[in-house]
Amino acid sequence: MEKMLQIKNLHVQFSTYGGRVQAVRGVSFDLHKGETLAIVGESGCGKSVTSQSIMRLIPTPPGRITSGSILFKGQDLTKLSEKKMRDIRGADISMIFQDPMTALNPTLRVGEQIAENIMQHENISKEKAKEKAFETLELVGIPNPKERLKQYPHEFSGGMRQRIVIAMALVCNPEVLIADEPTTALDVTIQAQILELFKDIQQKTDVSIVLITHDLGVVAQVADRVAVMYAGKIVEIGTRRDIFYTPQHPYTKGLLRSVPRLDLYESELVPIAGSPPDLFAPPSGCSFAPRCPYVMEVCDRMYPASTKLKESHQVHCWLQDERAQKFVTTIS
Ligand code: SF4
Ligand code: MG
Repeated sequence: MEKMLQIKNLHVQFSTYGGRVQAVRGVSFDLHKGETLAIVGESGCGKSVTSQSIMRLIPTPPGRITSGSILFKGQDLTKLSEKKMRDIRGADISMIFQDPMTALNPTLRVGEQIAENIMQHENISKEKAKEKAFETLELVGIPNPKERLKQYPHEFSGGMRQRIVIAMALVCNPEVLIADEPTTALDVTIQAQILELFKDIQQKTDVSIVLITHDLGVVAQVADRVAVMYAGKIVEIGTRRDIFYTPQHPYTKGLLRSVPRLDLYESELVPIAGSPPDLFAPPSGCSFAPRCPYVMEVCDRMYPASTKLKESHQVHCWLQDERAQKFVTTIS
């Protein structure tokens, strides 16, 4: 399968008055052509920082990619100049944020905003750009695009506004779309429509999507593969089936248990006890150890390596690593 992005051993730090926060600590994954990869985890797990790193949108300072690489079409994005990166942003890799209002200029008509976006990246006339804006509004399912192009952002409902933001992100035919909590600000019905729209667009354009979310319902609806992040690391990655039907990491299992189930009479939310570790001084062993019901001696001492359960499914947990026993006996 063609790889659109290859992220290798990415580390991101933030310098603060309190010290250095290690927000992303060795994240690696590939994004395949035409797939949706969801990155899930609690807030502060590093999922947004990972996606901002791909776009090189981490505020520097205080943030900094300290090591690792992000390959896109053979070039390492971490090494590109800001000017080259500006050409890539929007044209090759686009991003959609949670709040549509921050992405739109309230004083400009929607059609002009979209056309301006195109003209930043492509050398075409204003007329051609407007035509393209029209086609893109059609693609994202906005009725009467001709009339709508003349309106201002405040004249649209929240759901329609998010469609416009998606249209802006898609208008230059990017190969990769990064969506950070794209439906969190919307109510449930609209959310479902926007997720349907993502699927529809992907079928039409074969764009590859990285979807950042804390919502497993969203993941279940649209993801092909799922990466579960905890304390700055990916602890488990697999197909949607792998993660939902045969989760192996205790944290993934905990997340799935905390989702209310419609098929149970009394859907009980089971929160995971405890809180994530302090990323000023992350533990050298498994970061989930203080919250893990299965913690063993070795867990505190060494971070578990990746265990390949099958080609699509990998996990970092000593429970799945046959060397755990050996380490316990040799250490003690
Ligand atoms: Fe729990 Fe140990 Fe697995 Fe970490 S490595 S999740 S502490 S069993
Ligand atoms: Mg976030």
